[in-house]
Amino acid sequence: MVGNTSQTIVVAGGSLAGHTVVAELDRHGFTGDVVWVRGPEGTAPYSRPALSKELIRGRVTDEAIRLPAPREYGLRLRIMDLAVCARLDPDADRVLVTPAAEAGRETGGEWIPFDALFVCTGMRARLPKGFAGLPGVHCLRTLADAGRIRERLAGRPRAVVVGAGLVGSEMAASLRSCGLPVELVDQGRLPMEPVFGAELGRFSLERHHAHGVTTRMPATVTGLSAAGPEGPVSLTFDDGQETTAGLVILGLGAVTACDWLDGGGLDLSDGLACDAALRTARPNVLAAGDVANWRNPVFGERMRVEHWSNASAQARHAVGSWLAGQEGREPPAFADVPYFWSDQYGLKYQMVGHARGHDEVRVEEAGGEGYPFVTYLKDGRIVAAAGVNAPRAVMRMKARIQSEGTTTQGVHA
Ligand SMILES: Cc1cc2nc3c(=O)[nH]c(=O)nc-3n(C[C@H](O)[C@H](O)[C@H](O)COP(=O)(O)OP(=O)(O)OC[C@H]3O[C@@H](n4cnc5c(N)ncnc54)[C@H](O)[C@@H]3O)c2cc1C
Repeated sequence: MVGNTSQTIVVAGGSLAGHTVVAELDRHGFTGDVVWVRGPEGTAPYSRPALSKELIRGRVTDEAIRLPAPREYGLRLRIMDLAVCARLDPDADRVLVTPAAEAGRETGGEWIPFDALFVCTGMRARLPKGFAGLPGVHCLRTLADAGRIRERLAGRPRAVVVGAGLVGSEMAASLRSCGLPVELVDQGRLPMEPVFGAELGRFSLERHHAHGVTTRMPATVTGLSAAGPEGPVSLTFDDGQETTAGLVILGLGAVTACDWLDGGGLDLSDGLACDAALRTARPNVLAAGDVANWRNPVFGERMRVEHWSNASAQARHAVGSWLAGQEGREPPAFADVPYFWSDQYGLKYQMVGHARGHDEVRVEEAGGEGYPFVTYLKDGRIVAAAGVNAPRAVMRMKARIQSEGTTTQGVHA
């Protein structure tokens, strides 16, 4: 049993990181009150990665991608759906919670005092002004976004996917497998090149072409307009060319959802800045998941990681950090090698590590299918690795980067 019955913990965010914090508090037998503010989506937590994969292809239902409901919570838990944390009082440990529909208004809502606040508010899709609200134009961050896109698939309209990052590339592959004619557009030369580099970017481009996806790269969309509720959507590009589509998907990345902490005395320059143990400048405010910017001792650098397994691992760690503080112990650093995967055309891309700033790339083969396996080095040390259908080789590299990084950098907060 931890905590005491008069303590209150507020958990902001109703996706993987928030869900894991609540489950972890329950696992530790926290005896106080937990207020879980789940945000504007109005749904129980679900697997976001499935949105651009199995769900869009109709392989699974909305219900099948729900995160496993934790066993009946032993916690004194209050769940606030369709509600958002709207402000942190800089002079007191309390947070203003308002109905999501009233977010941004200065009045109303409920101030909730807390002994600890876990910020797990993640990210929202980047949507340039002028591109929002057009019929037939969608981004993909939420279950509701996926539902709106699926409603458009029946007539197999021509689809243009703008942005060939991870989500855009997955969407091109998934829409193609639903039988839609697909064009993939990006400002860069190759899909996913900023993530994986040129070798796997070229490999990905070939896979798109082999499956009948046309590409327009490099190209920048300069204008979008819709003829009416049923489309078509017209797109214009920086070279003056135009095209039309029945469905446009914007895969333009995401922005951190921590603007509500503005004025709360915390560093929000790239997500929410934390120390190595995931505590912010206010030690009873901690962060986990896509929103958390922390110093990762494995690489000796600050970073933010926008991937699934990081969110749950950080959430568990953040709870441990808070508990350590309660017991007067110094918490360990969150020393972790980031990992993500992406499924496209039946292939599994996987990457471990942190490739930013690498100065050397080595390409070999792994996994027995002749696909490229890439290692990224910095100052002669392997800092990241990526492969296709090569899970064992990728995971071996994860262990190696972890042990070498931990030895080189140390793991103290
Ligand atoms: C389409 C798609 C596919 C993906 N595929 C992969 C993949 O294949 N592999 C991989 O590793 N990662 C993938 N990811 C990334 C992965 O889903 C994220 O890393 C993960 O969801 C992060 O979890 P989180 O809890 O930190 O944040 P989020 O999932 O962003 O959740 C944040 C939650 O906070 C809520 N919220 C926002 N503001 C407030 C507020 N003010 N108050 C209260 N609540 C608030 C939001 O509504 C949301 O529910 C994918 C993401 C998307 C969108």
